[in-house]
Amino acid sequence: MPRYPLLSLFRSGGLVTALFLSIIGAHGQAPVPHQLFDHVVVVNEAALHSDILANAELRMRLVQLVPNAAGDAIDLSVPLDLELFPDVRYTVQLRPDQRSALAGLEVWKGRVGDARFDHLPRYVNTVFVLNRGTGRLVANIETEKGFFQVLPVAGTGLYRVRHCKPFDGTQCRVAMPQGRSRGGGGTGVPSLCDGACREVDPQGRYVVDVFAGYSPGAALLAGDVEAHAQANIETVNTGLANSQVDTLFLRLVGTGVGGENPGIVTSVLDDGWDWFAPQIEALAPDLIALFQTPTNDPGSAGGWGSMPGRATVNGVEWPTVFRHEAGHNSGGNHCFPDNENYRNGWDNTHWRTHMCGNDVNFYSTPLLQDDLGNAIGHPDQADMARNWNEMAFTMATYGMHRVPFFAGDTCIGLPCLPEHWGGPIEYISHVRFNELDNWQTDPAWNCPMAIGYSDYTDLSTEVAAGSTHQLLVESTTSWDESTLRAWIDWDGNGAFAPDEVVLDQSGHGPWATQVTVPADAASGPVRLRIRLQYGLDQPADPCSGSGYSSGESEDYTVVVTGVQTAVDGQVYAPEGNLAAYPNPTFGQATLEVPPNVQGSCMLYIRDLAGRCVRSVRSTPRSGRIHVDMAQLPAGSYTCELHHAGGLLVARLLKR
Ligand SMILES: [Zn+2]
Repeated sequence: MPRYPLLSLFRSGGLVTALFLSIIGAHGQAPVPHQLFDHVVVVNEAALHSDILANAELRMRLVQLVPNAAGDAIDLSVPLDLELFPDVRYTVQLRPDQRSALAGLEVWKGRVGDARFDHLPRYVNTVFVLNRGTGRLVANIETEKGFFQVLPVAGTGLYRVRHCKPFDGTQCRVAMPQGRSRGGGGTGVPSLCDGACREVDPQGRYVVDVFAGYSPGAALLAGDVEAHAQANIETVNTGLANSQVDTLFLRLVGTGVGGENPGIVTSVLDDGWDWFAPQIEALAPDLIALFQTPTNDPGSAGGWGSMPGRATVNGVEWPTVFRHEAGHNSGGNHCFPDNENYRNGWDNTHWRTHMCGNDVNFYSTPLLQDDLGNAIGHPDQADMARNWNEMAFTMATYGMHRVPFFAGDTCIGLPCLPEHWGGPIEYISHVRFNELDNWQTDPAWNCPMAIGYSDYTDLSTEVAAGSTHQLLVESTTSWDESTLRAWIDWDGNGAFAPDEVVLDQSGHGPWATQVTVPADAASGPVRLRIRLQYGLDQPADPCSGSGYSSGESEDYTVVVTGVQTAVDGQVYAPEGNLAAYPNPTFGQATLEVPPNVQGSCMLYIRDLAGRCVRSVRSTPRSGRIHVDMAQLPAGSYTCELHHAGGLLVARLLKR
């Protein structure tokens, strides 16, 4: 049995009875439910008091879990008797959720009696999340008697059964999109546009990955951060399933505790990306859900959500706030005409869906009726089910997933698909980098599933570590307020980091710069992303668009060949580059040699694998060295010129 060294308590009985009845149940009759919660009376209950939690409660009481498996563990597979309060008692048979969860988390779902939903066979109103790592659980049970949450009380082994106040739209505020978002996403340069890697699970449902970040104070009240976060995710998933939305679901990819606690204010929607930056880069979530404890800061609410967007901030004391704020992230507003279209919740005066009243576990849909036969949505004014279905692709591809969907998932680690908003006005029309030269006869984007995105990753150029090449970009049109940025994912981790910006200019094009390949760049193919957009409000982001005309993003492949190895195996760092022309060549080429290179030199020509395919001794004449590649097969070669003062390198493409 758990021990509570700092508390003296009286158990109200029930354990002995429950075990006895369980034994009878083993003999063939209908199994007798296991009484899971045992009320405890804590003498020093004031020590466990939380004003913050109490503010969102109608009442509460403390219970302990009654183990029913070896090692004082909990087995949720048997019929359970849930006595939440003396007047709130249910039996339930939970079923394990088949979707994968974070290691150690078990998600169990079921349905306790509530006659209002008897006509809806798929309805679920009970979710248990058991954290095998900590032995703790978080449960949500929603019936006509109210919303009940069972939360661990940190440091005690006890649980708080909460009869919660409703969280309706009056405690919520909506934040308009701020244009700020972060990349997350990939390695190598597989195509993002060929359909081979979509953000769907094996059943074809879009997976919207969520990272949950808690302030230390919020984590304490959550009792078990991972179980609490997963339970919050499931408030959305059960709402979607109840509303017959099967195109997507939310998946928890990680949790974190840290950052500050300014409260439930809009600055958190921005600052959360910084507080949890390492986890966000590693996990590439589509959405971040921040949990805070309330403060009296100006602008405080019970919850804030970007609409549409990727961040929410949620008062940790409200168990139904996240399903509402997540609806804002999908683009939904409260009640018509808050959005002058179907992206709203619905109040049919009997049931109120998540966005518009939030007292039943549904998103609005005209396809379902309440127990009086009235629709819980309207085709023109309240159809959040349609909105979720339409937003599934966008929400799932904010960050290309880095946590595998299943064992052997080879689609992990891709970079984000760039988003563009607004009308198609300016297009990138010409890109040149080293031997890559893409004049576009049709400059419009070529990826039908992503507005403003062109996939040219089948075009590549090879560059040696330490070498320098010009990057040139032209567009169909440009303005004083045009912004042109480019990134090369030098470390090959699939994310475009701030120190991987290789071109950052504004104003009229064309735009050009010299790009030096870092000496420590990852060998092999890495991605070059070029982005053109209008607007100087914020620097162009590799993933997220500005609010103006759409612009365009294009991806290419850059193959980094690494520092070349000399004949004797010694590694030389090239001191600079040779200009070579024509390039590509059909056989004959000329190297431009700097004036300090004099006397006899050795020229080594290497293939892509670094093998020396030709070596000739040569002496520059008039600053030039002649190269004959006529006998070599078509392909890419490195010319190393070893001279008295060092080593120079040129890349040559043989047609
Ligand atoms: Zn709201």
